[in-house]
Amino acid sequence: MIKGTTRKRTFRAIYRLLDQVSPVPFDCGRICGAACCHADGLPEMGMFLLPGEDKIHQKTDDWLSWEMLDTDLYDFPPSWQGKVCFVNCQGPEHCKRALRPIQCRTFPLKPVFLKADETLPGLVFRGKEGLALIYSDDELPYACPLITSQARLDPDFIRATYTVWKHLIRDPLIYDYIKEEGTVSPD
Ligand code: SF4
Ligand code: SF4
Repeated sequence: MIKGTTRKRTFRAIYRLLDQVSPVPFDCGRICGAACCHADGLPEMGMFLLPGEDKIHQKTDDWLSWEMLDTDLYDFPPSWQGKVCFVNCQGPEHCKRALRPIQCRTFPLKPVFLKADETLPGLVFRGKEGLALIYSDDELPYACPLITSQARLDPDFIRATYTVWKHLIRDPLIYDYIKEEGTVSPD
């Protein structure tokens, strides 16, 4: 299994921080039927955990199903050597919200690195260190109304999400992942 440098207690703090915010000040799942959470029949709607994020999960917990995937078979950065955790959930009715992965918590934003003179469509926030947040431009098997309408997101959510990624990129593996950016999907 690939080993990141982010500690278990940091992941716990990140989960706690993101527990306090939401992309918009209402349940956006109501407008789309929680499109980003319905994994039924769509195994690709599972997600990779970040290196070390598995430390705060119990693999025996049956609301998530687990697979260990070989990084060589997927489009990960070269520094990701070994196995990564891929989890599939059973949808919102079974979701243990306090344990939902970081990828669920920071969506629909996506971290990217931008040079000072660079910009990207869907840019939401630009930090001082080159780290920025855009609306996710990943290819998704559903349409997220927040992305399609470029909805105004809650400033607290944007700030918390930025803070989280700023901490996470201290881990060289996560830094490389964001640097390479792009969808991580099976070949
Ligand atoms: S798809 Fe978008 S609008 Fe729908 S629940 Fe997910 S984040 Fe909210
Ligand atoms: S873990 Fe929870 S928040 Fe994440 S996709 Fe599944 S149901 Fe949605």
